[in-house]
Amino acid sequence: MLPERRRQYLETIGIDLWVRRDRGASAEPPTATPAGTPAPAHPVRPADEPRGPAVVTSGEAATQWQQLLEEVRRCTLCRLHATRTQGVLGVGPKRADWLVIGEAPGAEEDRRGEPFVGAAGQLLDAMLRAIGLDRHTNVYIANVLKSRPPNNRDPRPEEVEACLPYLVRQIALLQPKIMLAVGRIAAQNLLGTDAPLGRLRGRVHHFGERQTPFVVTYHPAYLLRTPGDKRKAWEDLKFARSVYQQLTQGAADGNRS
Ligand code: SF4
Repeated sequence: MLPERRRQYLETIGIDLWVRRDRGASAEPPTATPAGTPAPAHPVRPADEPRGPAVVTSGEAATQWQQLLEEVRRCTLCRLHATRTQGVLGVGPKRADWLVIGEAPGAEEDRRGEPFVGAAGQLLDAMLRAIGLDRHTNVYIANVLKSRPPNNRDPRPEEVEACLPYLVRQIALLQPKIMLAVGRIAAQNLLGTDAPLGRLRGRVHHFGERQTPFVVTYHPAYLLRTPGDKRKAWEDLKFARSVYQQLTQGAADGNRS
């Protein structure tokens, strides 16, 4: 990405620029690794190694996506169906390399039927653009819960248990190379832990049958309330980008050998 464009995105997400007196402004914030943000673990296992269920054709995949959408729309598996406006499956290209996973639809998402709209969505878009991603071309965005909890309360365990199979099916259809879990709720529920977010950042986790690699960072809504943590989020994004580059480079090397 052009340095000037990245500088604009970093300004948008609120990262102060690091100005070197001798060479002018740098688009990159200081590169020192913060505590709890080690370099990528080696080796990172590519998510697209042959494993798990058989590959489906594009026609079969389209049918399965449609089934998934219709099931979520009419789902009554947990009590949230009674208070939601609509189930929100996700948005983005169906073969995106990146899958962003948040917590649950908020009021605006519930109304519009799309995850991460409004101010948090705009910040997420800026965060993604800062590492060269675009939600319309190479990122699919979904939530752990497909229906909005009343008053944006935390999801309850039985609600997550009821809803998580939808996300598992999305992941099986998408086959993303990497996932970015944004926020404590998404990270904890993917990992089945109650460890604080700070302990989950800065390393590569794996999820599901395909052992899809994923990295954890802060939720954009939290960053809007706590802008002082944007720099840590930026470190997470750079870390995720480096993991992805390692994964895709490893796959390319494997194809050549
Ligand atoms: S949250 Fe999930 S399980 Fe609960 S009603 Fe909505 S789609 Fe169904």
